[in-house]
Amino acid sequence: MAQSLDIAHKPSSTAPDAGAAPARVNLLGLSRAQLADALADMGVAPREIKMRVTQLWNGIYTRGLTDFAEMTTLSKDARAKFGQSFTLARPEIVTEQKSVDGTRKWLLRLASDKPGVPGPEVEAVYIPEEGRGTLCISSQVGCTLTCSFCHTGTQKLVRNLTPGEIVGQLLVARDALGEWPNSGRNSDDRLVTNIVMMGMGEPLYNFDNVRDALDIVSDGEGLSLSKRRITLSTSGVVPEIIRAGDEIGSMLAISLHGVTDATRDKLVPLNKKYPIAELLEACRNYPGLSNARRITFEYVMLKGVNDSLEDAKSLVRLLKGIPAKINLIPFNPWPGSPYECSDWATIEKFADVVNRAGYASPVRTPRGRDIMAACGQLKSETVKARASDRFKQVPAETN
Ligand code: SAH
Ligand code: SF4
Repeated sequence: MAQSLDIAHKPSSTAPDAGAAPARVNLLGLSRAQLADALADMGVAPREIKMRVTQLWNGIYTRGLTDFAEMTTLSKDARAKFGQSFTLARPEIVTEQKSVDGTRKWLLRLASDKPGVPGPEVEAVYIPEEGRGTLCISSQVGCTLTCSFCHTGTQKLVRNLTPGEIVGQLLVARDALGEWPNSGRNSDDRLVTNIVMMGMGEPLYNFDNVRDALDIVSDGEGLSLSKRRITLSTSGVVPEIIRAGDEIGSMLAISLHGVTDATRDKLVPLNKKYPIAELLEACRNYPGLSNARRITFEYVMLKGVNDSLEDAKSLVRLLKGIPAKINLIPFNPWPGSPYECSDWATIEKFADVVNRAGYASPVRTPRGRDIMAACGQLKSETVKARASDRFKQVPAETN
């Protein structure tokens, strides 16, 4: 049974004032260089800028502060001035739900794009497991792609998330989990150890913002999550895959789901543009691959569509020579979805073929199903009429 709790959001003191002039600049998600520019624009003396950037960075990303008044390393004068010109507003928690299995899902409202119109909403999901905790975050509201098994694919793209909104999902999760240094927790005992870009949207179609956000998330002087613990999942935007290797350097997951172009064209229509052979060629060229650093291939199990033994054998054949992990994902149905999940016996037979070929391919137990936080079940309230339920899935060992 679902165990859900709704939490009335308490706006931080730095939330933007409705109608107040002039709008304060949100510093979340700015690089150090952009922070320096923002400080210069508000008249901070050039000789002070470097020090102020370090103090702000520490306050925001190491201490998790949301209010300049708490940044005691800043002078009193700077605290007051920054409070007038800047904000540190995070996405706002609309609701939080907790699954019986410990999974937590937050519905988050982003900043409004038009005065008087509430901002769009996305979801983030936290999945605690033995020895690790994975946060699944979104990169877009909706998606331009229309994968036929994915509920987000029925929701048009509303907009890309900014770097601040992407990083903001981690900050909000750490707030809710009580994971900042002042919480009294042992800092070696992290709650969010891994991040997966597997929430709403296609991260490689919001490339620059995702790259800039992940640079902040992995910055050793702040949130310090190594890029090896960050996995970016793509439906196969071939030209951006190599660029992602060079410029982002995270772990990569590919939503493969089909082993012939005919089947994959139907499941992931982007395949018509970038067919399987081109996709796998890009994977072979992904920088830095080794047996310790493998690509995860996601494969959703759809009854009678892609789950035959022949498909399993083709999958193994296709991936030959690529340092790979295979994640078989039981399909999570959504209202009106045109597919069913494969039978358990079929999934086991499929997994046997894959295992015998040397892939440890755990079939992930869907997490948080009772709160619709499993793969394909995340819901964006933004377009309730088309109610785009979304999914979430965690790759096999990404650490
Ligand atoms: N757009 C990116 C990242 C988000 S989707 C991508 O497509 O890779 C994250 C994973 O969830 C993808 O592998 C996607 O195919 C899978 N997924 C989507 N809907 C699902 C569903 N209903 N059941 C199971 N997995 C689903
Ligand atoms: Fe978009 Fe990924 Fe869903 Fe396809 S599976 S519609 S790319 S979010």
